Amino acid sequence: MTLASVLGQPRAIDALQAALRGGAVHHAYLFAGPEGVGKELAAVGLAQALTCPERPDVGCGTCASCLRVARGLHPDVTWVMPDEERVARGLAGRSDFTGTPSRELRVEQIRDLQERLALRGLESKRKVAIVVSAQTMNVQAQNAFLKTLEEPPSGTTLILVASAMDKLLPTIRSRCSKVHFGPLPVALVAKRVQEERELDAATAELAAVMAGGSLGRAMALDVDALAQRKDVVQAFESLRGEDAVGLLRFAEAHGGSREDAEGALELLVLWTRDVALARAGMEEGLANRDLKDLAVEVASRTSEATLHRRHALLEGARAAIARNGAPRLQLERMLIELFTEAAR
Ligand SMILES: [Zn+2]
Repeated sequence: MTLASVLGQPRAIDALQAALRGGAVHHAYLFAGPEGVGKELAAVGLAQALTCPERPDVGCGTCASCLRVARGLHPDVTWVMPDEERVARGLAGRSDFTGTPSRELRVEQIRDLQERLALRGLESKRKVAIVVSAQTMNVQAQNAFLKTLEEPPSGTTLILVASAMDKLLPTIRSRCSKVHFGPLPVALVAKRVQEERELDAATAELAAVMAGGSLGRAMALDVDALAQRKDVVQAFESLRGEDAVGLLRFAEAHGGSREDAEGALELLVLWTRDVALARAGMEEGLANRDLKDLAVEVASRTSEATLHRRHALLEGARAAIARNGAPRLQLERMLIELFTEAAR
């Protein structure tokens, strides 16, 4: 990989490449944007460009140095991340920590980083530090980090990767050059998900819509649940208020666990949006394209007020499950209210 291979973020990548070309690389960057849209890949690409001996200021992506950067093994590229993140990535084991691995970046980690940066670069003239989940620095850690930003060691580039900028002190934000990463285009996420997870086009597109333009989220979605979406939607639309057994069966089928219920509700919220789009004659915007005929049919017999109510009840059930659990009971309640009231 290289900086140029980061997809879907042309403005961010252009700005970084221009700085590299012009010899105007800032000593500290803040890469900000949602999870899973390429911020960390861009950080790797920038670190490669800064340390690559083959293509200086570009990064070849294939030399020993670039490969080590990509694998997190380059001696002059220091990674800092919360302990919990290190465990999640298989870089450390739970048993390496006394107690639960921290979700926050600790002040000790920032001090370790400062010590490392004070040493001279081992291989290249430049040193890079990549701080992952920088928004998890607690106030103590942020204050320690501020010292590094105020008196940056020469030849060092600091890259803060953050999903929530407002959690960082204004004094940190103002000392960094900010690079914004937006949600990725749905078509791009759909294509990548389809390739990587071997999905059909319709399911991949749905995954991209549900993930809100985050490739990371789309990759983490439960594909089996997505593959069953057609069944879920069709079963939902065949429910009738007078068939109480059918309502209870649906709740039983999708209320087995919190995750199942939340997955089904998320699908049904998206489906309700599709019906609303079909009602407005905007079928081209459907997430469930392969259910277009059903969406049009349901739209023809459902009022706008009913769709609003549906949406509110689905969201209400989702919130209730997140608060109190009891997924099956919450689904039952919602279905009874939704279908028996509407049948009146
Ligand atoms: Zn290289």
